Amino acid sequence: MDVIESISEMREWRGGVAGSVGLVPTMGCLHDGHGHLLERARGGNDRVVMSLFVNPLQFRREAFEVYPRRLDEDLKLAEGRGVDAVFVPSVEEMYAELGGGRSRDALLDLIFSIQGGGEDRDQLEFRIDRVGDGMGYIRVPARLAMKMDGRLHPWHFDGVATVVERLLSIVEPTRSYFGQKDIQQVAILDALNDWAGGVTEIVRVPVVRESDGVSASSRLVMLSAEQRSIAAGIARLLDELAGSGEGAGVHALIERFEDGVARLETGPCELVIDSVVCVDSRTIEGVDVLTSSTAVYCAYLIDGIRLAETQWVGAAI
Ligand code: AMP
Repeated sequence: MDVIESISEMREWRGGVAGSVGLVPTMGCLHDGHGHLLERARGGNDRVVMSLFVNPLQFRREAFEVYPRRLDEDLKLAEGRGVDAVFVPSVEEMYAELGGGRSRDALLDLIFSIQGGGEDRDQLEFRIDRVGDGMGYIRVPARLAMKMDGRLHPWHFDGVATVVERLLSIVEPTRSYFGQKDIQQVAILDALNDWAGGVTEIVRVPVVRESDGVSASSRLVMLSAEQRSIAAGIARLLDELAGSGEGAGVHALIERFEDGVARLETGPCELVIDSVVCVDSRTIEGVDVLTSSTAVYCAYLIDGIRLAETQWVGAAI
């Protein structure tokens, strides 16, 4: 397995591959969810590239700094899953066009200072703004960004779209693999790919869950046993909501979910539900009645640690 740190080497590696390439973008601290994406990519392509980059452009500084990192273990897991190349660029490498020549700290200051903005984002179309020394900063249209997780911080998805567009242009993957767990993210990346002219095939991979029903997530390592049992309670309530079946009215279901949350045993922990919505899993438009294509999504914080769950009413697509 090749471990590649520079963009030029990554491009050179890609240039040497004649067959299909599957890309699995990750932020590391790998778990079974990532493992499943890697397996799908392995089964569907001649070569597999996994990128591992904790993207500061999509985080507040505090969340970026505490994001778990475990490079050595990640490389072992990737190798065990048959990855051919791991692309692990530094922030300075990835965002040289934003502020080349700056120290890592100065570049991070610049990155955290340009977050936000975009109040004038287009309702329907993607747009590229120029930031720093002229780097393209993708603005996700309001129809996709200004809801669910983007309601309070739509710039999060600008950061995701910007880094993924850069990865696609560097790796030029035949297929790119993303988890259905992050349902708004995958809907945005699908639309981004269409806007860019269908440069890759986006493959949506179903959610992988732990035995207590909680979706596998890099952040689970940050939870105490008490916090974890609250996460399991949320997963169970969301599963019940989704299990109400087609035709059930969303308003009453959300009320029942909120009652269930209020009854959860939280001990000294603080649980905050950020949002709970029922959406069409392709368009991420809100729905009033559950249908077979509805996804139920909940973002919540336990003692400030942000987690999310997605459940499907029908079979996941
Ligand atoms: P992350 O490293 O958190 O950015 O995740 C990298 C990719 O793995 C994203 O496409 C996620 O949607 C996907 N992913 C994360 N957790 C899961 C999971 N439990 N099941 C399926 N895919 C996942």
